[in-house]
Amino acid sequence: MASDCLKIGLTGGIGSGKTTVSELFEALDVPVIDADVIARSLLEPGTETTRQVIQEFGSAIATSGREIDRARLRERVFDDVDARNKLESILHPIVHQQIRQQTATLSSPYCIIVIPLLFEAGHQDLVDRVLVVDTTRENQINRAASRDQASVQDIKKILDSQIDPRERLARADDVIENNDDIEQLKLRVRELDRQYRDLGSQALGS
Ligand code: ATP
Repeated sequence: MASDCLKIGLTGGIGSGKTTVSELFEALDVPVIDADVIARSLLEPGTETTRQVIQEFGSAIATSGREIDRARLRERVFDDVDARNKLESILHPIVHQQIRQQTATLSSPYCIIVIPLLFEAGHQDLVDRVLVVDTTRENQINRAASRDQASVQDIKKILDSQIDPRERLARADDVIENNDDIEQLKLRVRELDRQYRDLGSQALGS
């Protein structure tokens, strides 16, 4: 039977700490659904989405007729807003639908849905509450650069294509300030876990 768990949308800019935070929730046995994981699975060889993307962008982004070269696809859309919008218009509706299907099968007081582009892609209606992970721009750049070995220039470009952090924060119900060490992050996640379990249980009981 479909459940009605409290859906927490976890979002934040590049390198803010979304994955780290979601792993901390997972360690507390909270179900986590990740929009990026779904998007990646849609681009596996032989899927209908892969077929559509190859049809749209041509064989230049494919290693074979059925397989996408992710690095080339990333390069293709990196500097081209129209191409990025096109790719997102193929992916986002299916990601949206799959998130809905996955949350409907859960039976827990609450779940975390990691949606990096929650506001940019208009996925707000999927969630009951928004949790924003925030940190300084400097931390975002340094952490993303050392994780991905990407250039600072490329990270800044991605940062600037995302929603203004002040606007993201203004739309948050809860905020995690990820400016300290991982131990502090764990404490904050535990605090939110207690709060969400209470809220989710109340909603289930009503
Ligand atoms: P993206 O949007 O690029 O996928 P993200 O928001 O998921 O990034 P993470 O991958 O969780 O961010 O974090 C980025 C990097 O910063 C990772 O290498 C992570 O281990 C590190 N990191 C996260 N939080 C902290 C912290 N509080 N102190 C030090 N390093 C951190």
